[in-house]
Amino acid sequence: MTKIQPGGTIGILGGGQLGRMIALAAANLGYKCHIFCPEENSPAFHVAYTHTVADYTDQDALKAFAESVDVITYEFENIPAETAEFVAKIKPLRPGVQALSLTQDRLTEKEFLNDAGVQTAPFMAFETEEELLAAYKKIGHPAVAKTRRFGYDGKGQAMVKSKLDFDDVLAVTKGTPAILEGFVQFDREVSVIVARSVSGDVAAFPVGENVHTNHILDTTTIPANVSERLEATAKVMATKVANALDYVGVMAVEMFVNDDSGEIVVNEIAPRVHNSGHWTIEGAETSQFEQHVRAICDLPLGQTAARGKVLMKNLLGKDILEHEKYLDDPKASYHHYGKQEPREGRKMGHVTWVDSE
Ligand code: AMP
Repeated sequence: MTKIQPGGTIGILGGGQLGRMIALAAANLGYKCHIFCPEENSPAFHVAYTHTVADYTDQDALKAFAESVDVITYEFENIPAETAEFVAKIKPLRPGVQALSLTQDRLTEKEFLNDAGVQTAPFMAFETEEELLAAYKKIGHPAVAKTRRFGYDGKGQAMVKSKLDFDDVLAVTKGTPAILEGFVQFDREVSVIVARSVSGDVAAFPVGENVHTNHILDTTTIPANVSERLEATAKVMATKVANALDYVGVMAVEMFVNDDSGEIVVNEIAPRVHNSGHWTIEGAETSQFEQHVRAICDLPLGQTAARGKVLMKNLLGKDILEHEKYLDDPKASYHHYGKQEPREGRKMGHVTWVDSE
């Protein structure tokens, strides 16, 4: 049975804000959510039908969780591959194990993208100083060194302007598998949120333009300041990736754009709903969260058009304490993720403005 009818139960691995917003969208369509997360008091627990607090390696808890739901998804890509494989034997896991394991490793991810005919920055794997030197000679400089696994928001990365930076690089990678990537001279960063259903239907949202501060997403703007041709190319690239992965659900494809050359390369893909798609909640005909639920339950995909010009701004750390400023603004839609401690850089909420005139 591929179709999960409203009234069914969706299992979500991971209990952060993405799981929370999936659960809210799922509830609107009549689904119950069961969240599985190792941390007590996770943001998604507050809005879901039920939850399990257990480690991702706890097979008894995973089995009980999987047996209690109709379909399983994840909101966090560092779920151990063994956990994904284990639950996938009990209930459909969407997106599947392949999408998760490929994107957990920057090397396999980039090799997959290139094989699918999608351009990335040039890259080469290394572990030791000797291999780093070989990669440096091949890739040239400036370049960016990145650990292959567990990097996000700029963590596990170091710039390589010359050989003098090798010590810094090795201090970051600590002898673990890494890649050296050519530095892309880009003018803007964009992302495409694309959905693919069990039946193979694909729908891409309008391209969003992303600004990062200290490697963390600050704002997403719709429409992106790119030509119509580039907008279309970006969507085609994202569709290619989703099809090549035989993907089910919503995914984000992040890209670098060079205005002069019109060149566009993929930086990374996230096999899940994404921060740069939060604007869709108020700003698009269907939100990325509802779209994800539709895709994994094999319902028809929703319309993706924007409802106007849209700006989404993340509220990090203490930004969240200024809620009255946003609640007083008649144009602003304010989101608080229910997290207690406003630690520096922590994603606490976001605000969206839609200008439909
Ligand atoms: P990532 O963790 O791969 O998303 O990288 C975080 C940020 O570092 C990106 O959003 C870019 O701003 C920058 N960055 C990463 N890789 C490159 C690259 N190859 N060339 C230029 N900038 C990069």
